[in-house]
Amino acid sequence: MRWVAAALCFALAACAGTPPAAAPAPAPAPALRISVVYPKATDVVQSRDSAFLFGSIGRGDASLTVNGAAVAVHPNGAWIAWVPLPDDTIAPFRLVATVRGDTQAVDVTARIVARFHPPAGRAAWIDTTSFAPLGVLALPPGEGVRLAVRAAPGATVRLRTPSGTVVPLVRDPLPGEPAWGERAFGTVPAGLRVPASPDRYVGWLPAQWLCADSAGGRGCAVLEVAAAADTVRALWPLRVTLLDPARPVVVTVDDDTARTGTTDSLTPGRAVPGGTYNWFFPTGTTAVMSGRWNDQVRLQLSRSAVAWVNAADVVPLPEGTPPPGGAVGSVRLTPESGSVVLRVPLPALVPYQVTEDEHSVTLRLYGVASDVNWMQYGGTDPLVRRMSYAQPAADELTITLELAPRVWGYRVRFDGRDLLLEIRRPPALDAEHPVRGRVVVLDPGHPPLGATGPTGLREPVATLAVALKAKTLLERAGAQVLLTRTDSFPMELFPRTRFAEQHGADVLVSIHANAFPDGVNPFTNSGTSVYYFQPRSADLARALDRALIAELGLRDLGMGRGDYALARPTWMPAALTEAAFIMIPEQEALLASEDGQWKYARGVAAGIEAFLRERAQQ
Ligand SMILES: [Zn+2]
Repeated sequence: MRWVAAALCFALAACAGTPPAAAPAPAPAPALRISVVYPKATDVVQSRDSAFLFGSIGRGDASLTVNGAAVAVHPNGAWIAWVPLPDDTIAPFRLVATVRGDTQAVDVTARIVARFHPPAGRAAWIDTTSFAPLGVLALPPGEGVRLAVRAAPGATVRLRTPSGTVVPLVRDPLPGEPAWGERAFGTVPAGLRVPASPDRYVGWLPAQWLCADSAGGRGCAVLEVAAAADTVRALWPLRVTLLDPARPVVVTVDDDTARTGTTDSLTPGRAVPGGTYNWFFPTGTTAVMSGRWNDQVRLQLSRSAVAWVNAADVVPLPEGTPPPGGAVGSVRLTPESGSVVLRVPLPALVPYQVTEDEHSVTLRLYGVASDVNWMQYGGTDPLVRRMSYAQPAADELTITLELAPRVWGYRVRFDGRDLLLEIRRPPALDAEHPVRGRVVVLDPGHPPLGATGPTGLREPVATLAVALKAKTLLERAGAQVLLTRTDSFPMELFPRTRFAEQHGADVLVSIHANAFPDGVNPFTNSGTSVYYFQPRSADLARALDRALIAELGLRDLGMGRGDYALARPTWMPAALTEAAFIMIPEQEALLASEDGQWKYARGVAAGIEAFLRERAQQ
């Protein structure tokens, strides 16, 4: 996405019109004072046709218009507006508040992300902001590259490579991309995608055709678009280099090359650049680099599996380092008081993935073959019913532990050249008093960051107030409750999850207030939602969602799998609550009030209790 700097005016005081009239003597009403929380001068609105503005006018008995359209004002003066955007990079808004003859006007100018406009009077054109992929790409020879671009509808579109090869691009008949905000909050799946556009073209060609030698060039294939008697050309802004398969580049993963010691030492891997986190590679993991696209590096995990990671998180090993691989030897399971530990001797620190089902945990090792002649149980622990292994591919090995109870948690680390998979014993739960004796960690979301409501309520203030109240309720029920923070000092995400693990949390719940991304209509999408990441946490998220809906009575946006750091810990069931939208005046007022905070807290406590009771009965 390209952002264009635009001159702007965001002068609340300077643009203010009539000053407030002198207040009557005894009980002066709050002053009429227009403030805009969003968009700020530095915000660039990412949506195309409509956007929300919100803020306060200082008192609830006044009326407000935005560009002439009436906007509802909450009794505390808060407002939110959903307004059409002009087809431009700047949008002027005139806000006029009126009460009993007193009027204040404020002009606000918002910046809007730039859009391409086809040139007038030309039959042929290329949207030069739409080239995909662009930048720097490294691939093995023979691997294909998908191309996409916007150009004049009905045109003949082709790519001329440096060697003279001509590759046609065809019209893409499928609908375009949806906005992520719509995917997250939209309740009607139909219509979430923009319709098929006649100006989107796609093509494919082997990497080596794009550029045999691009040293010094900005790109070396030329796109040619011809329509009627008109032809336009543009250099495709992509530089391609070829990786030599005879000289594999072996890298080691390290998410903290600066040695700050403040990270979780895990590098997330994605199946596609920008995709969902699917792997978590500990520092020291080695693999072959099989591709690169700008700041993303592709790791070849096995012949059929790849993962994209941040280029900043990999360090190349000396030239000539052989790719990791070999055979995995005999494994042993050792019972300990709170867990059982599986020790897997590895030939190298190969990439792995742990997945869980209701009653099983599976370790998948990449780039290795099985020589697991022995699987020693080390006693007959009641937690693990059975261990099994499989070799689903010549260079992938899985070891599965079938558990008697439901999965509660696990963690993995390298110990020298061994991999240790530690599986947690579930807590002994009393179905009558499931919370009694349990360790619950509550995480008041933010700071740093966090959303702001129309009257200026900060999310971290609301989440701490709710967490303190939920602590009181859970302690009354017999739990030991710990908060990741109890003051307003910023705390990064990893120290929060580390805190929960170090204190042996049986359950972790992170408390937040929601905010909309650009382009989502706040009047049709707001409500309660709860997120989880690991399968075992789905029941916790569902129980929290139900309890919060019962307490707060807001629209149920449902539970969802969300890629949040506080929902990802593997050692305990964890979920993240977004009970209300702080940007909606009524919901901000709820989050600001004692009564609303108690409701949110009761929902959290009741959800945790319902989850633990459900588990106690299984
Ligand atoms: Zn938040």
